[in-house]
Amino acid sequence: MQNFTQLQEILSTPKDILITSHRNPDGDAIGSSLALYHFLKAHYHTVYVSFPSEFPDNFAWMEGSEEVLIYDSKVKKVNKIIDNVDLVFALDFNGLDRIDKMGEYIAKKKVPVAMIDHHLDPDDFSQYTLSDPSASSTCELIFDFIQMMDKKDPIDIKVAEYIYTGILTDTGSFKYNVTPKLFKTCAALFNVGIDSNKIQSLVFNSLPKKNLELLGYCLNECMEIIPELKTGIISLTKKDYEDFDIQRGDTEGIVNYLLMLKEVQVAAFVTEQPKIVKLSLRSKGDFAVNKIASDHFKGGGHKNAAGGASFTGLKSTLTKLKKILKEEVGETSFKSYPAQD
Ligand code: 5GP
Ligand code: MN
Repeated sequence: MQNFTQLQEILSTPKDILITSHRNPDGDAIGSSLALYHFLKAHYHTVYVSFPSEFPDNFAWMEGSEEVLIYDSKVKKVNKIIDNVDLVFALDFNGLDRIDKMGEYIAKKKVPVAMIDHHLDPDDFSQYTLSDPSASSTCELIFDFIQMMDKKDPIDIKVAEYIYTGILTDTGSFKYNVTPKLFKTCAALFNVGIDSNKIQSLVFNSLPKKNLELLGYCLNECMEIIPELKTGIISLTKKDYEDFDIQRGDTEGIVNYLLMLKEVQVAAFVTEQPKIVKLSLRSKGDFAVNKIASDHFKGGGHKNAAGGASFTGLKSTLTKLKKILKEEVGETSFKSYPAQD
């Protein structure tokens, strides 16, 4: 970690600290934030957590989640906290634009920032930086950070559970980005006593009925497979959002179903939000969807999982996406996949 010794020095006496993560926080954002929250609190710091927008219900079992301040609805309160904190931890994102207005306020107030993140191409806004795109998740890096900070003490069970949660969700239950190091980390978490079955059940097997109905609808009515582009697209309109009363997190993971098709190499989930059209992109093998997201949709992410936004309406966004894929997919041979028959 860059400037770790200085950060360690700062954290050697009680401080006021804000932890934040990206808009539409996922399991890795929430898990890393609440794991670090409990770790820092146990070390006598005063800690606040704020996300730009709401988090999904299936993470509400985590202790501390009830104290999370949602910036969208608590601007004044969080700004006051930012005015007074000694340090901001920025977790699971690497550009202040991912936290919108909160990012602008943090930059304006010149609060020192410690970034812990696993996305490519970090912006230069943090004084203390642990950035490792080879890590499966920010939670994996939170484990490393805690080890660096506190080699002697055993890891707290809550901290271990929340780290494991982010690892589970960002790896798709150990489908993506697994490494020997990650399994070593998980072994250490198991040695602390985490119950993997319990956590998997809390995170994945706690959906309301409407979510399965929505999934059925997406697969039956909204899926388009374009064989010549090796692409699958699912799109949802504003009306679908109203009809299914879709809330934050309800659409999580739907894009991955497209990748289950043998002929699909690139998957897109495109949704009409109140002000923007949001794109979630996925791919198999070498095809880099983060390049598509950053070149054309003001977004970014990882090679095989990225996202961005469009401001031109759903129909024209879909037309634009298909045009881009026609150019990009045409140049790709998809050598590495499909591998098995
Ligand atoms: P999801 O499709 O699950 O929303 O996001 C997948 C990944 O894409 C996230 O881990 C994040 O790195 C990235 N991502 C999604 N939306 C955006 C965006 O609007 N901007 C940037 N820079 N990255 C995004
Ligand atoms: Mn992550």
